[in-house]
Amino acid sequence: MNNHNSDNNKPKFIQGRVAVYPGTFDPVTLGHLDIAARALNLCDTLVIAVGDNRNKSPLFTVEERITLLRESLAEMGIDGRVCVDSFRGLTVQYAKSVGATLIVRGLRAVTDFEWEFQLALVNRQQDPQVETVCLMTSREYSFLSASVVRELAMLGGDLSEVVPHNVAAMLRRKFGYSQTSADVRDI
Ligand code: ADP
Repeated sequence: MNNHNSDNNKPKFIQGRVAVYPGTFDPVTLGHLDIAARALNLCDTLVIAVGDNRNKSPLFTVEERITLLRESLAEMGIDGRVCVDSFRGLTVQYAKSVGATLIVRGLRAVTDFEWEFQLALVNRQQDPQVETVCLMTSREYSFLSASVVRELAMLGGDLSEVVPHNVAAMLRRKFGYSQTSADVRDI
C-alpha cells in the first residue's frame, strides 16, 4: 500500500533534523503529549503521524484524531516545531518521505518492550538509515494508554488527569455524558 498524507502533500514546515512519532492516538493522551514534548529535545521538527489503519476500527476518525492533537499541541504552546499528519503503510517509508532520520516511540512497562523491540528491529531491517529512539514514560503516565482512556470515558470516569480538556470534552460528547465543570472551565 502506498504512503498517504492527509492533505495529499507533505507537511509544510519541515526543516532541520526531523523525527517522526507514529501511533494510533485514539485519542491523544497526556502520556503521548509528554513524549512529544520531550522528543522536541532530539530534533528540529517533530512529525506526529497518525496511523490510518482501518483494521483497528478506532473510536475517532483520522481527521478527529488529527484535530484533537493539533488543538492539544497549540494549548501546550508546542505547536511551533510540531506538525501533525496521517499515514498508511510502512512507518519507515513514511519517515523517509518526510526526510526523517528518527522514529520516536514511548515505553511504559516491560510489556511494551517486546513489541517496541520487534518494531525497532524490523524498521531497521527495512531501512538502516532511520534510527528508532524509545523515550521512557514519565512516572505519572506509566499506567496510561488510549485504551484505558476510552474505557474510562465510556464508563463516565474522571478524565482530567489523563487527557487534555479538549479531548475530555470530545470523549464526553462521543459517549453522551454531559460536560463536567472541569471541561467547561478550560475550553
Ligand atoms: P496506545 O494505544 O498504547 O496509547 P499508540 O499507538 O497511540 O498507543 O502509541 C504511540 C506510541 O506512544 C507507542 O510507542 C506507545 O508505547 C507510546 N505511548 C502511549 N502511551 C504512552 C504513555 N503513557 N507513556 C509513554 N509512551 C506512551
